[in-house]
Amino acid sequence: MIIVMKKGAGKEALAEVKKRIRELGYKAHVIHGESRDVIGAIGDERGKAILQSLESMPHVEAVVPILRPYKLASREIKPEPSVFELAPGVSIGGKELLVMAGPCSVEGESQLLETARAVKAAGAKILRGGAFKPRTSPYAFQGLEEEGLKLLAAAREVTGLPIVTEVVNPRDVDLVARYADVLQVGARNVQNFPLLRLLGQQNKPVLLKRGMSTTIQEFLMSAEYILSEGNQRVVLCERGIRTFETATRNTLDLSAVPVLKEQTHLPVVIDPSHSTGHASLVPAMCYAAVAAGCDGLLVEVHNDPETASCDGPQSLTPEDFSAVMEKLRRFAAAADRSL
Ligand code: PEP
Ligand code: MN
Repeated sequence: MIIVMKKGAGKEALAEVKKRIRELGYKAHVIHGESRDVIGAIGDERGKAILQSLESMPHVEAVVPILRPYKLASREIKPEPSVFELAPGVSIGGKELLVMAGPCSVEGESQLLETARAVKAAGAKILRGGAFKPRTSPYAFQGLEEEGLKLLAAAREVTGLPIVTEVVNPRDVDLVARYADVLQVGARNVQNFPLLRLLGQQNKPVLLKRGMSTTIQEFLMSAEYILSEGNQRVVLCERGIRTFETATRNTLDLSAVPVLKEQTHLPVVIDPSHSTGHASLVPAMCYAAVAAGCDGLLVEVHNDPETASCDGPQSLTPEDFSAVMEKLRRFAAAADRSL
């Protein structure tokens, strides 16, 4: 249910309504709107009619049901897009597009630093790099784990770029959160509900990737798991879905961007690397993603793609990435965005 507060209702009134919501057995999530505050009362769907009684409280304007199954992620509760910081001074969801770039996995100090310096020079605002890698084969390189996190932190120290890195296992959430600015949930973990709940309880933003066979509704329900635990900073990432097509690694569902934009206030980014699987296809998909209305991109860049331990064929060289960023500025301007 959405509890719409009257215009000008103060902090005390808000606290009183929140208290009443809790007494009724629901969680209260306050969303500060431009003209008024609303409170999402979230919990067991079956007894929610009892919340209607809040309408008699003096500072409550209305109590309205949220029709979508995802509540806190929906535009019903928050009509305007969410804009928030992923790290101090680095925002997403506003006019400025945010590009996150770096290698698939952290392989060593010089590989990471060289790539980090290059993506920064080209205009990326966040460094990506996997320390824990979810690999299809148990015999493939699994990542440098904590050593990789340390190298990421060192690269942040040198370049000033905040870092996004994946957490694969619920038991590693605290460890990864100690190093990372943004915690990534990979496509394979999009429905790992215990992991999502834990991420909802910590205070770092989450980059949530769509699974390869996840519907948009399921994707938003996964975001809801994080939001419902109290973490409001969730970024959605479309990274390609599995279809019959084999010319690309996955099929980039670009229409997911306007669909998500209609249904949720959360920012949406596109990963052109895992969706295409080929470096030559990445630039076109970057430009198309901006035209489709995304808020940012997650791009794999490697200082020497031929020697990469992971995803070399889809990784851009620093030179190619720099050229893409140059051209992207013009596409951004055409889409009324900046970069
Ligand atoms: C990644 O971005 O490092 C990754 C493993 O991607 P995905 O989860 O989308 O396959
Ligand atoms: Mn990869």
